[in-house]
Amino acid sequence: MNIILFGPPAAGKGTQAKALAARGVVHLSTGDMLRAAVASGSEFGKRIDAIISGGNLVSDEIVTELIANGIEHHHGTNADLLFDGFPRTLPQAQSLDQILASLDQKVDLVINLDVDRDLLLGRVAKRFAQEGRSDDNPEAFAVRLDAYERDTAAVLPHYEARGCVKTVDGMMDISTLGAVINTLVGWHA
Ligand code: AMP
Repeated sequence: MNIILFGPPAAGKGTQAKALAARGVVHLSTGDMLRAAVASGSEFGKRIDAIISGGNLVSDEIVTELIANGIEHHHGTNADLLFDGFPRTLPQAQSLDQILASLDQKVDLVINLDVDRDLLLGRVAKRFAQEGRSDDNPEAFAVRLDAYERDTAAVLPHYEARGCVKTVDGMMDISTLGAVINTLVGWHA
């Protein structure tokens, strides 16, 4: 099964994805992949760092290649794949469709976390204080939210047209939301 965990930045995608990964789902996070590239200190990583720190989106080509490598790496293992932070633009969604179609697969489920903008701002201020992620500073976060509203929100209708989107209230506490997501995926506690 191929699942997209969808929603604005700081909606709780990473936290929920980690809980699903603990149950054996393969967690493919383009944000984690890009941060690993930054941590490597390579020239490529330095270029990525400048983009991420400003809250901007990395090019479709780069993130699509990262995700294609991730899919290829797990192909043939029968593992469920969970996409977190990808696709973030319509071209990325179209590329994902093509990659999966070439493997006789498709996106089976999009879990859309619906979160109030004010709640996001509160969450991110707390996360910035605790973790100090450079792209959580208020200026960068405003750019990320704009990118979400401008580019990423358009991904949802693409999947809604196929009837595979389930929208859940992302403002529930972490464990309640986790239980709801498990039910959607077809698992029971
Ligand atoms: P995330 O951890 O998913 O919030 O991603 C952190 C940052 O990495 C984003 O703000 C973007 O700068 C970049 N990024 C992650 N995934 C993508 C993507 N699919 N397309 C473009 N940029 C991305």
